[in-house]
Amino acid sequence: MEVALEAPNGVKWTQPLGLFINNETEEVIAAAHAATADDVDKAVRAARAAFQDKSWKHLSGTERAVPMNKLADLLETDAHADALASAQALTTGMPYAVARGRVVPTAAATLRYYAGWADKIHGQTIDAGRSKAVYTVRTPLGVAGQIVPWNFTPVSEAAKLGPALACGNTVVLKVSEVAPLAGLYLAGLARAAGFPPGVVNVVSGRGGEAGAAIAAHPGVDKVAFTGSTATAREVLRLAAPTLKNVTLETGGKSPAVVFDDADIDNAAVWTHRGVMALAGQMCSATSRVLVQEGVYERFLARYRDQVEKVSVVGDPFEAATFQGPQVSRAQYDRVRAYIRSARDEGATVYMGGGDAESAGVGPQLSSGNKKGFFVEPTVFTDVKPGMRVYREEIFGPCVVVVPFRTEEEALAMANDTAYGLSAAVFTSSVARAHRVAREFEAGTVHINAANSNDFRVPFGGTKQSGIGSELGEAGLAAYSYTKSVTVNLDA
Ligand code: NAD
Repeated sequence: MEVALEAPNGVKWTQPLGLFINNETEEVIAAAHAATADDVDKAVRAARAAFQDKSWKHLSGTERAVPMNKLADLLETDAHADALASAQALTTGMPYAVARGRVVPTAAATLRYYAGWADKIHGQTIDAGRSKAVYTVRTPLGVAGQIVPWNFTPVSEAAKLGPALACGNTVVLKVSEVAPLAGLYLAGLARAAGFPPGVVNVVSGRGGEAGAAIAAHPGVDKVAFTGSTATAREVLRLAAPTLKNVTLETGGKSPAVVFDDADIDNAAVWTHRGVMALAGQMCSATSRVLVQEGVYERFLARYRDQVEKVSVVGDPFEAATFQGPQVSRAQYDRVRAYIRSARDEGATVYMGGGDAESAGVGPQLSSGNKKGFFVEPTVFTDVKPGMRVYREEIFGPCVVVVPFRTEEEALAMANDTAYGLSAAVFTSSVARAHRVAREFEAGTVHINAANSNDFRVPFGGTKQSGIGSELGEAGLAAYSYTKSVTVNLDA
């Protein structure tokens, strides 16, 4: 679809990529270039040339950290942080206060964290006997192709750029076509941060064209993808002919298990936040809450209190708002379809289940109808394991609360999923907490908290939630290979 748009600096977009809308009012606010396979090829060539150029290749880790820290400084500058947070709030519905207060600062901190690693990425010396001296060198992979979703910009971008650049790679990063504005703004800041030309390349484009071109490009050595499990399968297929190093961070249907000895108030606070924050649009959302039968009713009552007290649904720019609209009409329709499926399959809608009208939010139109992709926070009970809302990732403010009897049964239910991203356990027994943590089939486990992720801590999934880890020191492993060097001491 063509949208006539001229940027404030006079640049006209030649090939607009759909519409970027304020997802509360459905007004068009911008359009962005849709990168073609040719554009991706240019970006990959630039990254390849930069990887070989001494302006980057010959930098020490300490020197590589300089533009990384500068980029973090820029993200912490009020004007830039305001712009990034506003773009994210306008296009995704993330509450501005969350974007400005937590998400943008976390992106800056992530870049700083990896800048700190850049001169501490060491190999080993290995004792291989008297006649050999052996050491290893952590060597960058080359050009890293990075594909991100829309829900955590600019943290997802920082989590990709940080370890890749710290290790000495160059990058071609594709931002999501659903909400590219904040990612493109970040690209401008990366240019101002002083990376040598070609080191950081950012493209906006559709997945099927620009994303696929990155995944398949023979000049790309590594693909780091974050997005849905279905797209990850396609990325893996496209990357297979050239055997790229691949990291996949995908979806989930994460369990939170509440035992009868838990602090129920604490469990209600965390399990509510764990799925209802960001309108449920989090990969590691704890969307299946399993509660021991003795405390089930008490827990449900506390959960209801949390939803009623905390889940203020409304304008993302209002300070009190906890939950904004869903990111797009497609996502809104998808969540509504899941709510219908739950009713059709016999679940009880314990609370919520409505849309903007029933949520009492959204701009008032002259017709009297409310607009905006708002979904009421929704809690399902009487849910059976075969139901879609129990098994599938909804990516909306929806949770199932299901009773269990024993620890063994809870673990069987928790692990009865194709996913393995995240899990949480609530109990006052130290032994049980660690026993259950050990048995969870998930890459990230929280005890007496849920979905409280941290850039210093490895994050990744098992089963169909992904391959490899990001963040923390583990994030570095994804962007280097180990080269061994053996010296013949007898020569
Ligand atoms: P998506 O899979 O639709 O898109 C993700 C990215 O992949 C976008 O940039 C898109 O353009 C690109 N893409 C689409 N088709 C492609 C193709 N054929 N080849 C290459 N790239 C392609 O996901 P989304 O709707 O943007 O995000 C929501 C999903 O992301 C959820 O499933 C969520 O769980 C997941 N997610 C996972 C994590 C994690 O760290 N595990 C974090 C955030 C989101």
